Amino acid sequence: MRKMSQEYQYLQTLSERKLLKKNDQNSLNHLQRGHQGEQAFDALQQALTQNKLPCVDDLYLKTNTACVQIDKLLTVDGVAYVVDVKNYSGKYTYFENEWRKNEIPLQENIFEQLHNAMRAVRRIFWAEKVDLEIRGVLAFIDPHATIDIKDNVNDIVLNAQDIAGWLLQLATQVQPKDYAYNNNWRQALKKHTLAGFSCPRKLPLAHLNHLKHGICCRNCGDNHLIETSYYMQCPQCQHREPKETAYVRTICDCGVLFHDHDLTMGMLCQFFGETVNRRYLKEMLARHFEIKKHLGRSSCYFNKGLLFIYWFEEKLSYFQMLERKTDWVRH
Ligand SMILES: [Zn+2]
Repeated sequence: MRKMSQEYQYLQTLSERKLLKKNDQNSLNHLQRGHQGEQAFDALQQALTQNKLPCVDDLYLKTNTACVQIDKLLTVDGVAYVVDVKNYSGKYTYFENEWRKNEIPLQENIFEQLHNAMRAVRRIFWAEKVDLEIRGVLAFIDPHATIDIKDNVNDIVLNAQDIAGWLLQLATQVQPKDYAYNNNWRQALKKHTLAGFSCPRKLPLAHLNHLKHGICCRNCGDNHLIETSYYMQCPQCQHREPKETAYVRTICDCGVLFHDHDLTMGMLCQFFGETVNRRYLKEMLARHFEIKKHLGRSSCYFNKGLLFIYWFEEKLSYFQMLERKTDWVRH
């Protein structure tokens, strides 16, 4: 599963609890669009080639000074394709080493971002003695974008309508050796992979009071849910969520926003607001979260700073079982 970046998780969660500043809202829109573009590419690849193309998605590679993110790396018949998916709309031209969007020169060079990622892969392959040619691919996934490359470039530039053909063509070139799971290129990349960028944004704890409190309905966002023994019910849209899931999910939301802090009862009680069921919250912490320090009332728990879907992805079947139970329960 392609995950939202930590910054995306943070801004998304913050937007559910307060009105974002204009700059933050723009960043959120940008991250959302980028993520949707990558998912659209994945879906196309899956539909056309199933799992035929040997590939790694969403790679974070260590370089000597920093870290680069790669949307997708496909390896077919001696070539590693570093794919950068762009979900841009508008008219893009590249002429005399300069990108323009709707005639306006762009500050950034989209090729340079791609080449930076390719250099990271090249250095790793060189160090790990992996003998693969590296090629760059810019894939413009939005059919409303028009791309006009006037210079000669070494990279492959795909318009939305070219992507399917390119993937199908690639699938015909796959060699049996490309499938091997212990391929040396996979091992080499794994050795230099990071978990992801940590979120560069931080929310001071003092801001706890300025957020929308409580458990927010996962369907409509309303935070005046009615608590029963088994589930939380939304008075606005009537949506029901198992109570256990609602509490755990909200604890995760607090963790995402205050990702640089451990989780404590004090912080969570403020986040959940006055109507919190403290006894139940405590029970959920003990059941699902790992304790870091036993300090009686001020015990703290490890904070992964991840949304519920990612934090508990390995316990998914347990929470699915709760959903089924909630369907059976009649008030
Ligand atoms: Zn609702």
